[in-house]
Amino acid sequence: MPDPRISIFEGDITRIKVDAIVNAANSSLLGGGGVDGAIHRAAGPQLLEECRGLGGCPTGEARITHGYRLPAKWVIHAVGPVWRGGSHGEEALLASCYRRSLELADQAHAQSVAFPSISTGIFGFPKERAAVIALETCAAFLANNHSLEKVVFCCFDPDSVEAHRRALDHLGNPPP
Ligand code: ADP
Repeated sequence: MPDPRISIFEGDITRIKVDAIVNAANSSLLGGGGVDGAIHRAAGPQLLEECRGLGGCPTGEARITHGYRLPAKWVIHAVGPVWRGGSHGEEALLASCYRRSLELADQAHAQSVAFPSISTGIFGFPKERAAVIALETCAAFLANNHSLEKVVFCCFDPDSVEAHRRALDHLGNPPP
């Protein structure tokens, strides 16, 4: 049985009413395209202001800011790996993004968190594999955490929804 706190949603992460949304940021934390651009547009200029003070963030790590005009109180900026063929530690770095984001959410006493599919846009990480890493890392974290009540995987397209559904169905059952 998958953890009932995990759900999959198709749509725009900037509209979700959760305590914290995760941003797929780049290491400058100074904004970019894709979901990063959408989050900065929706949050307003104060978000960039706060990000400027953070001095960047290494790949595999995350930083937390306020959500400003977003419905979410917090934005957790996670820096996913650029896909370079798979032999440059990409999988471990992606897992680390999810884990560090959940740790920051928990420290901020957030009870609900929404993730985009980190690294699967401009950064080119294969969607199917990214979904498995996302679901497995979050399920493992939740198994030892009783404060977080809800983790939403916010998918922006039907392919991504399917990849996350399959990963959720197969949690804990490695393919033969
Ligand atoms: P990265 O650089 O980490 O690959 P992208 O923003 O290019 O980040 O893409 C990450 C994922 O976010 C992609 O699957 C993309 O389709 C998705 N995405 C883009 N805009 C939004 C949005 N407004 N809400 C949720 N997901 C989004």
